[in-house]
Amino acid sequence: MREIGHFIGGKEAKGTSGRFGDVFNPNTGEVAAKVALAGKSEVEKAIANAQAAFPGWAATNPQRRARVMFKFLELIQSEYDDLARLLSSEHGKTFPDSKGDIQRGLEVVEFACGIPHLMKGEFSEGAGPGIDLYSIRQPLGVVAGITPFNFPAMIPLWKCAPAIACGNAFILKPSERDPSVPMRIAELFVKAGLPEGVLNVVNGDKAAVDTLLTDARVKAIGFVGSSSIAEYIYATGTAHRKRVQCFGGAKNHMVVMPDADMDQAVDALIGAGYGSAGERCMAVSVAVPVGKKTADTLMQKLIPRVESLKIGPSTDQQADYGPMVTRELLDKVRGYIDTGVKEGAKLVVDGRDFKLQGYENGNFIGGCLFDEVKPEMKIYREEIFGPVLSVVRAKDYEEAVRLPSEHEYGNGVAIFTRDGDTARDFTSRVQVGMVGVNFAIPVPLAYHSFGGWKRSGFGDLNQHGPDSIRFYTKTKTVTARWPSGTKEGAEFVIPTMR
Ligand code: NAD
Repeated sequence: MREIGHFIGGKEAKGTSGRFGDVFNPNTGEVAAKVALAGKSEVEKAIANAQAAFPGWAATNPQRRARVMFKFLELIQSEYDDLARLLSSEHGKTFPDSKGDIQRGLEVVEFACGIPHLMKGEFSEGAGPGIDLYSIRQPLGVVAGITPFNFPAMIPLWKCAPAIACGNAFILKPSERDPSVPMRIAELFVKAGLPEGVLNVVNGDKAAVDTLLTDARVKAIGFVGSSSIAEYIYATGTAHRKRVQCFGGAKNHMVVMPDADMDQAVDALIGAGYGSAGERCMAVSVAVPVGKKTADTLMQKLIPRVESLKIGPSTDQQADYGPMVTRELLDKVRGYIDTGVKEGAKLVVDGRDFKLQGYENGNFIGGCLFDEVKPEMKIYREEIFGPVLSVVRAKDYEEAVRLPSEHEYGNGVAIFTRDGDTARDFTSRVQVGMVGVNFAIPVPLAYHSFGGWKRSGFGDLNQHGPDSIRFYTKTKTVTARWPSGTKEGAEFVIPTMR
């Protein structure tokens, strides 16, 4: 059985804790590999390696750091397809979707290539007599990223690329469910010229995370995953005086106005609701048609589309989506559908019993569609994270603005309309971090920042884009007077510029 260890000090390191986790093939349900679950001493070894590598890397000029990023982009091209296949084999998403996962990560590496420009400070000449005032950005030191299973290339790259480009040393703790791609990313960075110890990967679970959270040498933590863990990491990390940003779960609504292009809205709901088996934090899980006529037309068009979704193994390039990552998550999703039925929602398409011929033990589930879901129901309040779309019928526009605004999650939201006034009012008033107008998955591009509101985001700064440079650096402000020989005598009053 293949064994996946850690990546410490520029090379693979075997797990020594004696604990291992299973990595499954989601198509068959079989165990495909064993992943080491790091104990305290392994994480401490990674921290020590990062600590030792930090001063040299921080002192490397930003253009040289950028060159490592450029080289990494070049190297990854030659094995793009292999990496996407590896990703599919552990996650279950289709090959084209895995390529998208890698691509969205590479776009942040491209952004990080601009680090000489991004880290430029500010300078005020002549702020006083012979006085210049300037601010510079400096890296924090050893920083860590804890990432979820659902984007095993994109999110590790969102975390490590800006952090490293800023001159930090990084420890990645990827999801134990699909650890192979993050390991390969670290190897490629070293091949691209990154000094050993600047990027380390420790595989593991809570034990590894807790060591990162409490060790004083780790200066900042970036987390992406479910909201309950995000809250725990935010509280524990900040209590240990770290800079922390945590991105949590979601319940993304898509409002469909009566004047929307209905075919475009249905296409959007199908792609954003069921792509990647709904295992995306920006998946649309709630459709909000406004008015009875809109709702009836939408349902009429939606039902046959959900019924005809093509579900296949992750190797099937024609499949709309593949299996869920684990049997555990599949059972959880099925449980939510049972709950929805008990709560009185109308299950108009039931994919619970779907079986894929030849893959009877795989983690497959058919598309599910609920109508007449009410805000008090558990299936509306909680994140399901599966191919399940809930339709909540809104009587008017005001109710459609209120629903996502009052939901405890606030990651993404979309409105489909042809009316500019409505779109503008909605984008201004809705209490959600990322908004799409006739665009179902409004994930900002790499040079803007990504982050949700309410229980979808904890901390002040978002990920990638300009916020990532702010998060991974601290500002130092210098007041300098030349010539240094100026003699004014002792001043007992606070210096002012009158
Ligand atoms: P998860 O919370 O189970 O795991 C995330 C990370 O936390 C993993 O590395 C895991 O090993 C670690 N972890 C798990 N339990 C822990 C514990 N008790 N203590 C410390 N660390 C622990 O999330 P997941 O199932 O891997 O990913 C799916 C979730 O991530 C969904 O809720 C999804 O919405 C969310 N997500 C959010 C975003 C975003 O940007 N807001 C992006 C992607 C995914």
